[in-house]
Amino acid sequence: MGNGRYLRCSNCNNGSILALGVGMAFPEEYKDTVKDIKDGVYGEEYKKMMLSRKDIAVDLENNLYLCEKCGEWEVNYCFDFYVPKNNGESVIKEKSCVYPHELKEGYERIFKAVHTCNNCKSEMRKVEPNESVFLKCPICNSNMNRSDSIDVNWD
Ligand SMILES: [Zn+2]
Ligand SMILES: [Zn+2]
Repeated sequence: MGNGRYLRCSNCNNGSILALGVGMAFPEEYKDTVKDIKDGVYGEEYKKMMLSRKDIAVDLENNLYLCEKCGEWEVNYCFDFYVPKNNGESVIKEKSCVYPHELKEGYERIFKAVHTCNNCKSEMRKVEPNESVFLKCPICNSNMNRSDSIDVNWD
């Protein structure tokens, strides 16, 4: 399900695992995160979206985001919002969990989340799973090599 990437900094030896995609405990995670969104943990904008319709769904795939201006990066949920395509007909009822791949089929996107860099406030872009990019080490700022990745199952 989810795929992990292991990164190691050749300069300071700091290592970290990027957990991307969806984990094994996704249904639980979805439920908890939707609750947090409704409680405003992720801000007013997402809260309003989540409460706007009963059948609304959120994309909680873990993606890698990169700021091309300053090199900051983070792993975060996508946070795009979707509604079922057959609007009006109650084909899809309120669901307790919607996987990202389901969103690509029966849903349409009504809100695209903007991921902003914590450091320089520029808009970050999503790094595609097969793309090879240099990520800087959070400890020493050297480049970490993403190519020595391993597949790990995570939850
Ligand atoms: Zn380092
Ligand atoms: Zn930045």
